[in-house]
Amino acid sequence: MGTCLFCDIVAGEIPCTEVHRDSEFLAFRDIDPKAPSHILVIPHRHVPALSTLGDQDADMMGRLLLTATRIAADEGLAHQGYRFVINSGDHGGQTVDHLHLHILGGRPMRWPPG
Ligand code: 5GP
Ligand code: ZN
Repeated sequence: MGTCLFCDIVAGEIPCTEVHRDSEFLAFRDIDPKAPSHILVIPHRHVPALSTLGDQDADMMGRLLLTATRIAADEGLAHQGYRFVINSGDHGGQTVDHLHLHILGGRPMRWPPG
């Protein structure tokens, strides 16, 4: 076991309900879903947060968005719509320090949340 929960999930040391895996990203169902469909998409590589990204990560972030878009479509969310969320840092509500994109769908989303 390492020190990062999501690195352990990528390594298969902690189980998850996998939705998609390729050479760069893993997608799995959130353990505490906030919507009927709640999927987390993470890079295999340990990236702590949005705030640590640099120019060298532009292609990876583009692929992350496109991969999540395909997963949302495969989940049947494209027609009615969905929300992507990436929390960063304490005030952003980030609780796991390994970059992850939330796909939320299956119900209307409100803003502000509550
Ligand atoms: P954050 O608040 O950092 O943006 O989101 C972290 C998310 O990870 C939360 O929605 C939380 O429910 C989810 N999560 C935390 N621990 C686990 C776990 O062990 N397995 C899964 N599948 N999701 C987790
Ligand atoms: Zn990690």
